[in-house]
Amino acid sequence: MLESQGLSPSHRFQMEVDWFSLSGVILLLCTAPFQVFFFVMACDQYQCSVTQPLVELYSGEATLGSIWDKAPSFTWTAAQIYTAWVSLQVVLYMCVPDITHKFLPGYSGGVQDGARTPAGLINKYEINGLQSWLITHALWYANAKYFHWFSPTIIFDNWIPLLWCTNILGYSVSTFAFIKAYLFPTNAEDCKFTGNVFYNYMMGIEFNPRIGKWFDFKLFFNGRPGIVAWTLINLSYAAKQQELYGYVTNSMILVNVLQGIYVLDFFWNEAWYLKTIDICHDHFGWYLGWGDCVWLPFLYTLQGLYLVYNPVQLSTAHAAAVLLLGLTGYYIFRSANHQKDLFRRTDGKCSIWGKKPTFIECAYRSADGCLHHSKLMTSGFWGVARHLNYTGDLMGSLAYCVACGFGHIHPYFYIFYMTILLVHRCVRDEHRCRSKYGKDWKRYTDAVPYRLLPGIF
Ligand code: NDP
Repeated sequence: MLESQGLSPSHRFQMEVDWFSLSGVILLLCTAPFQVFFFVMACDQYQCSVTQPLVELYSGEATLGSIWDKAPSFTWTAAQIYTAWVSLQVVLYMCVPDITHKFLPGYSGGVQDGARTPAGLINKYEINGLQSWLITHALWYANAKYFHWFSPTIIFDNWIPLLWCTNILGYSVSTFAFIKAYLFPTNAEDCKFTGNVFYNYMMGIEFNPRIGKWFDFKLFFNGRPGIVAWTLINLSYAAKQQELYGYVTNSMILVNVLQGIYVLDFFWNEAWYLKTIDICHDHFGWYLGWGDCVWLPFLYTLQGLYLVYNPVQLSTAHAAAVLLLGLTGYYIFRSANHQKDLFRRTDGKCSIWGKKPTFIECAYRSADGCLHHSKLMTSGFWGVARHLNYTGDLMGSLAYCVACGFGHIHPYFYIFYMTILLVHRCVRDEHRCRSKYGKDWKRYTDAVPYRLLPGIF
């Protein structure tokens, strides 16, 4: 097959998979869909208790079959809603070039360059996520206020049937990307093959699969349909609280506001996002494809779902503490990311915390043997710890959970998951940086010894 495309294996990046990574991959492939089902079903059938279903299973009061039978199944209504949703996002992504950058000061949208890929390519991206988000939410508002085509609770009302639809898309897109990588890769030189089919399927082979010139799988699936939907899902939960109880709790408002800030930040900084690990280093497989379609919309919104079933009204002091934690976390997350971006964009010719930044000069060789130079900043948040942007993210995540009170562990799954995700990501990134920069990375870690929490980790 390689010969039929005029490619030799040397064009492609080969990698060995260790047993530990492979076990993790197989475990995730086998359990992640059931984890999502479990958390959503726990709310639907057990008022969001995660222990009750386990106790009933253990005592024989319930069986896996009886739980499965009680869960709502696939419906054509949900399929129509989801098809309309994904189609709208495709149209907004592909057919509506960004105009918001022309009138929003400080916003970078429109056609932007991505980072250089391992094979040396620089892809162009149409950055119009903020515009898509604004149009989608304007349509949602217009419907709720004037047109009444559908109820604002539509997402909540079809939540489990929608889970089946998102799974169909998640598996289809991952399988398509897998087959495409063998048959018609977008850039064969950027493909990463391992000797293991499960690893290839999950972690992806192609680096930047595209259809045509502009439909970029990573940018589309990472941001839309999942992240645009995030704020709408939360609004649907708030509408459901209003319908069921006649009021919306302050905890629900806090979750909507804090997660809304995070989502808007994502789209405001979509061009910056092209330089993050997801786009710069990860290949597109089930991890990103299924994860963006299913894991993200269902598990990142657990707090709002929980609050529909358990309407927690927080004391003023509790609500203020959540807001403070969430906003402080967001400030650290955004400022740390901004400092690194500014430092790299200006090649260190900028001011960080009112001073010229300090840094460590590094050298590294790319796959083609060329020598390059780079800088690792040791000022600002990057001088306090090596990944304070993750620490800020974790503080924000904890705030969403604490907004739900302390009645159940269900909404706390998010902080548990984010801690594993970001600690693993930190270790993975540092492993890559160590191989890339060698002794210069050692000089950096000597200068900034802690990863996430100064003095502790
Ligand atoms: P970072 O933005 O932290 O990028 C890490 C890279 O930055 C390194 O590989 C290295 O790249 C460079 N770098 C490391 N240290 C320095 C330094 N001191 N000075 C200059 N450059 C440095 O990682 P991510 O892309 O993972 O994260 C981006 C944001 O997205 C984070 O805030 C994270 O919290 C958030 N995030 C959120 C997720 C969610 O699900 N909510 C998931 C993933 C991320 P190089 O090779 O160029 O030197």
